[in-house]
This record gives sequence, structure tokens and C-alpha cells, in this order.
Amino acid sequence: MNIAGDIDNELIYGDKKKRMVVVGGGITGAYTAKALEEQCLYTEVTLIDQKGYVEMPWTRRRCMVEPGFAEMCILLHEEYLKSTKIVIGTAASVTDGEVILENRESVSYDYLVIATGSTFEGPTTREGRIQQYEADCKTIRNAGTILIIGGGPAGLELAGELSVDFPQKNLIIVHGGVRLIDFLGLKASKKALEWLNKRGVNVYFEERITEDGLPGPEDEGDGLYTMSSGKTVTADCHFLCTGKKINSSWLKGTAFEDSLDERGFLKVDRSLMLEGHPNVFAVGYITNMKEMRQGLLAQKHAEVVAENIRKLSKGSNKIITYKPGPPIGMVSLGRSLAIAQMPWGTMLGRLPGMLKSKDLYVGKTRKALGFKS
Ligand SMILES: Cc1cc2nc3c(=O)[nH]c(=O)nc-3n(C[C@H](O)[C@H](O)[C@H](O)COP(=O)(O)OP(=O)(O)OC[C@H]3O[C@@H](n4cnc5c(N)ncnc54)[C@H](O)[C@@H]3O)c2cc1C
Repeated sequence: MNIAGDIDNELIYGDKKKRMVVVGGGITGAYTAKALEEQCLYTEVTLIDQKGYVEMPWTRRRCMVEPGFAEMCILLHEEYLKSTKIVIGTAASVTDGEVILENRESVSYDYLVIATGSTFEGPTTREGRIQQYEADCKTIRNAGTILIIGGGPAGLELAGELSVDFPQKNLIIVHGGVRLIDFLGLKASKKALEWLNKRGVNVYFEERITEDGLPGPEDEGDGLYTMSSGKTVTADCHFLCTGKKINSSWLKGTAFEDSLDERGFLKVDRSLMLEGHPNVFAVGYITNMKEMRQGLLAQKHAEVVAENIRKLSKGSNKIITYKPGPPIGMVSLGRSLAIAQMPWGTMLGRLPGMLKSKDLYVGKTRKALGFKS
């Protein structure tokens, strides 16, 4: 480390360390806390998360068919953060200078980064999360017919993993929309359906299965699922893949309520700052940034925000702006194939599969978080 830099920082900050708080320990919050602790010297960084680990969300379907894979994809916060204070808890409210947790404890900040993305339901420990994948895998192994509810990216990626690793299973997808993976274009949807049809997967469109349609205990496990049209399908188990819900309701009634748009996303400017709040930033899924919502862009969000907080905390207002990611979308289909929508065209095959499906960016993500392998 540069000694002159140290002295410079000491002179600027004096005795009082700036307090930087990140709320939400998904992939974007994780990258942001790491960038802050590395880039902003003489500061205190705190990460508040509901769980003790970060997970790479795009690997979940692989973890369900191969629970051993989860060991590489689920990382304890203390494994990749060196000096950040980790607080396990749920943020319930926030004022201009404090985050208030559900247990009524509070954490003070000079700079705040909101990264609470989508709603999280699941075990709060790494061990519990891995056990959940082991249980899912057991359910899959014991089933003859598996029902996937939802034909978005999560549903399609699960169908891909199941159909490649367990080709003998019958698969059914029940999808509410008129086409699969509709966050991508028509070509991608068509290619996805052709691939599933070739592999014998049964797809129902414009049908939904709500809680009322699930087989209840009174049905003695007959496996009969009722769709919105009244038609039924039979399966031994089901997996819900109905998409993410934005997790910003905890900001209602707080100093930042005005920053929520009508859908619940946080309105940020090009520097990822909340409009009218020069010490508050938002990153990841929760922002209203117009780009494809990709975890891989998380690192770029984090770098821009850490740099801006570093500059602001040193008294400089020469902040940098974020350039939205390119319109690229990729959906894996098992271990070697993927559908890719690029600016120049859409393809299904081994080439995009080589980019995503083999290790699902696990090596790259671990490296970015400071792991040697
Ligand atoms: C099927 C599928 C495939 C995908 N494929 C890819 C891909 O190939 N490449 C890619 O880059 N991206 C992919 N994505 C997108 C990627 O997963 C998301 O963009 C990314 O997870 C968003 O991260 P985040 O950190 O913003 O939010 P989240 O992952 O939602 O994390 C939010 C975190 O905040 C915590 N939290 C929430 N509320 C509170 C609170 N009140 N107090 C404290 N903590 C709180 C939660 O516990 C959680 O840890 C895919 C997504 C899906 C569903």
C-alpha cells in the first residue's frame, strides 16, 4: 500500500471514520461491500443481510440436480469480506442516517447502498441451503413425472437441467403466458419450445396453477393439479418457477418512499444515486435501470457506486456514471447448450453453452470475489 496515500486519507478523514452500510447480501450487495472495503480506506463498512451467505442465483437449477455443485456457489459472507462488519437481520425501515432492523436495533450510516433486490424465502444458513438442495434432488430422483409451474427463465433452465440429467423423467410445464422466456424475443421463445418438444416435454400455455389447484391432503396424494381452465395434469411433484417479486415494500413510509416508482423499483440517476439523496445509492435488481436484469452486471453496479462513494467521501463531486449493459440474454439448457440473444441474432447451441452452461460463471464469480479457485 502507498504510504503517501495513507497519510492523504488520514488527513482527509481525521479520527472519524465514514460509515458505509450496504443493505442486502445478494450478489450485487456482496460485490458492493467488497468493492467498498477495498476502495474506501479509513471507513467502516457494514453489510446487513437476512442470511449469512451469498448465493449465485443463476446456479440454483444446477444445484437442484447436483447438490454438490452448491458447495462452490454458496459462500459465507465472512469468506470473501475481510474487514466488513456483517449483521444478520432484516431491515424494516430507514431514516436519513439510520437503518432500523426488525429486532429494533439500528445501524448508523454516512453513505447507504440499497441492494434488497427480490424477496428471499429460504434457509438463513449455508448448511440449511445446501440441505434444501439435497432434499430437492431426492424429490426429483423419486419422481416419475415432474411439473414445472412457470415458463420464464427459471422454469426453462430447470426443464433444461432435468431433461439432460434425468432424461427418463416425464416433464410438464404449465405457463401463464403465450410464449416461453418472454423477456427475450420471439425467436428465442420458438427455439426453446422446439427444443422442449424434441425432448418430449409437455407445455401448456395460458394456464395457471394457483394454491387452490395444488393437490391437497384430502386428495390422498393423487397428484392431480387443476389448471385455471379447469383441466388437470398429474405429476408426482412440482417446482414453482413463477418469477421474482421486487423487495422494496420495507421502504414504504420511509424517507425514501418518494424514490420508488409505480412498480416498486428505486429511481436512480446515471451514477446509481437516489434522486435528491446524494449519500444514498441503489444497485442490482431493485433499481429502475433500463437494462436486462443480470447478476453479471452486479459487479459493474458495485464498481461505479464504490468509486462514487469514495470520491464523495473525500469531498470530490466528480462522480462517474454507469453505462447500462448490452441487450444480451442467455438461458442455459442443461450442461452444454444454451439459448443466446445477442444484438446481431439469436442462437441455440453449444457455442452459447460454452459461455454459460458448463460452469455457469461460477469460476469467474468466485475469482471476482477473491477466491483462488
Ligand atoms: C433463471 C434465472 C437465470 C438467470 N440467469 C442469469 C445469468 O445467466 N446471468 C446473470 O448475470 N444473471 C442471471 N439472472 C439474474 C440474476 O440472478 C439477478 O439479476 C440477481 O440475482 C440480482 O441480484 P441482487 O443482488 O440485486 O438481488 P437478490 O439476488 O434478490 O438479492 C437480494 C438480497 O437482499 C436480501 N434482503 C432482502 N430484503 C432485505 C432486508 N429487508 N433486509 C436485509 N436483507 C434483505 C436478501 O436476503 C438477498 O440476499 C438469472 C435469474 C434467473 C431467475
